This record gives sequence, structure tokens and C-alpha cells, in this order.
Amino acid sequence: MEFEPSTEERMALESLRRHVEAEVLPRVRPAWDRAFPPDLAHELLAGLVDFGIGAGWLPEADGGLGLSYVTSGLLYGELSRLAPDVAGLAYVSEGASMKLARLGTPEQKARYLPGMAAGRVIGCGAVTEPGAGSNVRQIRTRAVRDGGGWRLSGEKTFISNATVFDIATLLARTGEKEFTLFILDRAEHRFETREIAKLGLNGWSFGSISFDDLGIDDAFRLGPPGAGLREALSGFERARAWVAVIASGIARAALDDAIAYAVGRDQFGAPIAAHQLVQGLLADMACETEAASLLTLKALASLDRGGRADLPTSMAKIYASEAAVRVASKAIQVHGASGVTREFPVERHLRNARMLTIPDGTTQINQLIVGRELTGIAAFLGARHPETARTAAE
Ligand SMILES: Cc1cc2nc3c(=O)[nH]c(=O)nc-3n(C[C@H](O)[C@H](O)[C@H](O)COP(=O)(O)OP(=O)(O)OC[C@H]3O[C@@H](n4cnc5c(N)ncnc54)[C@H](O)[C@@H]3O)c2cc1C
Repeated sequence: MEFEPSTEERMALESLRRHVEAEVLPRVRPAWDRAFPPDLAHELLAGLVDFGIGAGWLPEADGGLGLSYVTSGLLYGELSRLAPDVAGLAYVSEGASMKLARLGTPEQKARYLPGMAAGRVIGCGAVTEPGAGSNVRQIRTRAVRDGGGWRLSGEKTFISNATVFDIATLLARTGEKEFTLFILDRAEHRFETREIAKLGLNGWSFGSISFDDLGIDDAFRLGPPGAGLREALSGFERARAWVAVIASGIARAALDDAIAYAVGRDQFGAPIAAHQLVQGLLADMACETEAASLLTLKALASLDRGGRADLPTSMAKIYASEAAVRVASKAIQVHGASGVTREFPVERHLRNARMLTIPDGTTQINQLIVGRELTGIAAFLGARHPETARTAAE
């Protein structure tokens, strides 16, 4: 069991920190509160790949770095402490590149992976729809065979990287009970994307993708027909670990800011850090931050071992995303009124953390996964949707 980064990992973390402080933060800080425009998003990602962000998971054979999930998670944790919006942009893109690496034909891989490995091509994963969130099986986006190709109609919403992506891996219904993945290519296909304003992580693009009777060639089908749901669901385990990584980074930033403020602010003739109740706040924050990081590290190590990792990834996702909200809220308390102003970073930490209890399975959905793993009984029951009842029975 190893709880500390290796010497090589420490050096990689230090290089990444220096790059982010010198090259990323000066560019993104003035634009924290709206989605990075496509040009900036592409420049940020391309600048980060050499530091292990954006193409770290891709195998070396596909042009990536082939990092372990633990090493990659450590790097993303550091990036998330400094710039979680950028971490979100990059991990979602990496997720799309991994789907291509796993399922793509040689032609699809040759077309997209070199650009993704270089951070020039941004990816995203489009599953959620206005009528289908927690229950993926309720999606209505339909792909109908049309000669040698397909016609797609539907709307995806709450999609990360929606207004900056070059390619999306998109889940569509291709039969009553059949779901298939497709590649949506901004250079090839006609569709609309729209940014949706949100509470936090505002630099990270988030919005909808809509298309109506869009004709696409069969060359853009990703993986076998009917394999889409299984593939989309299998990606959630890694995504949950990554939400936990980002949440842990935000908690760390909130803790660091609270400590610095508590040491520097005097009340009653002493630094507020000298007051025992403030130390109590800091100690609770430190315990929760550390616990979130350790659960996340365990989830990453499980992913590295291969096989299913539902239990550790869902546990890490639940705990880290909920803990980051509590830690950021306490950081505001330590700052007093300054904490609720936009003059200090802690209100942003709270808004950022609050985003993360929802994606890649809400806290409640992950609780159901943990419950299922503990008891062997699936409790995803829903009276109104026969599709949901089917999930529970499986
Ligand atoms: C920051 C962010 C990034 C995202 N990025 C992406 C992306 O890149 N791609 C993508 O496809 N989607 C993305 N999403 C969408 C996300 O996956 C969905 O929001 C999520 O699955 C929940 O769906 P919903 O919002 O429709 O909520 P709903 O499913 O409508 O749930 C509403 C509430 O009901 C609860 N609930 C639902 N079912 C049950 C149940 N069986 N038991 C108990 N409680 C239940 C939920 O926990 C929640 O509290 C993102 C969302 C966020 C916030």
C-alpha cells in the first residue's frame, strides 16, 4: 500500500503546477465566469498534454502516454486544486478518446486519435437528454437506418464541452431495446449547440446538442450496433473516479485558502487560527479532504487493477463530491463576510464543488449502486417507467 507519490510523480506534479501557474491561470482567471471560447479551450488542452493531462490514459500504441489511473489522478488532482474547470474540459475529452481507442475501426482511430493525443481535437460524451438523466435507458434520440447510413433526430442536454468539442460520442436508440454509439463530427455534421449558464465550474463548457433528421454515414457508427448502452455505462466507472478527483482538488484548495486566511487574520488580539473553534473547523475540513483523497486513490487503484470497480468508484464519488461541498462551505465560514464576496476565491470553490454531486450518477444513484454491491439487490425501481423496472430485475 502506497500513500505518497513516487519521486517521478512528484517531479511531474511540480512541472504541471509550474505550467498551470505560468501559462494557464493568467489566461483563465479573467474568464472564470463564462465558458472558455473554443480557441482558448483548444490552446489550453494542447498546452497540457505534455504534462500528462488530456491524453494520459490513451495507450502509447494510440499516441497517448499510457499513464496509470493513479498517476493520472494525482496530476488531475493538482490541476483541479488550481483550475478545476480546465480539469473538467480535459477529462471529458480523454473519456471520448478512450471510447475511440477501445471501439474505433482502424480508419476512425487514424482519423481522430492523433489529434486527440496532441490535444488538438476535443471530445465529449453525449448521453443525457431533457427526458432522460439518471435512467439512461429512457433516452429518445433515435437513429434509423437509411440505405448505407443513418438518420438521427434528438436533443442531448447538460453535455460537458458542448460548445467546444470537435467530436462527440453520442448514444442513440437504434431499436426498441437497442442502443448504439455514433461519432458526431463538428466538421462533417450539421447540428446546433448551445451553452447553458450554470452555478459553478463556469469556464467548463456545458450545454445542449440538437439535431433533426441528420444524415450520417455508417462510417461514423462507433462499435457494433446494440453495444452502445454497455459501452456508455462502462465509461461511468472511470468518470465517477474523475469527479471524485476533481472534488478532492477543490476541497484541497478550499482548505489551503482557509488555513492561509486563518493565520493571517487577527481578531481579539490574535490570529483567528489561534481560536480553538476555528481550529476545529480547519481540523474537520482537513479530515474530510484527506478521507476524500484516500477513497479516491483507492478507486483509482481499483481501476488500474482492471475488472469492475463499481463499489470503490461510487463510494469515492459520493464521499468526495459531498465532502467538497461541506469543506468549501466551512472555508467560507473561516473567512467570515469576506468569504461570501467575489473578492476571495472560497465562494467559487463552493459553487464549483456544488456542481459535482450530480454528474456521472447523482449521489442518490451512486448510493443505489453501493447498496446493490453490498446486498446483491438492485433498488432502481420506478413504477411509471417499465424500462426502469427492467433495470432492477437485471
Ligand atoms: C457538471 C455536469 C456535467 C455533466 N456532463 C455530462 C456529460 O458530459 N454528458 C452527459 O451525457 N451528461 C452530463 N451531465 C448530466 C448528468 O449526467 C445528469 O444531470 C445526471 O445523470 C442526473 O440526471 P438529471 O439531471 O436529469 O436528474 P434526474 O435523473 O431527473 O434526477 C433528479 C433527482 O432525482 C433523483 N433520482 C432519480 N432517480 C432516482 C432513483 N431511482 N432513486 C433515488 N433518487 C433518484 C436524483 O438523485 C436527483 O436528486 C452533466 C451534469 C452536470 C451537473
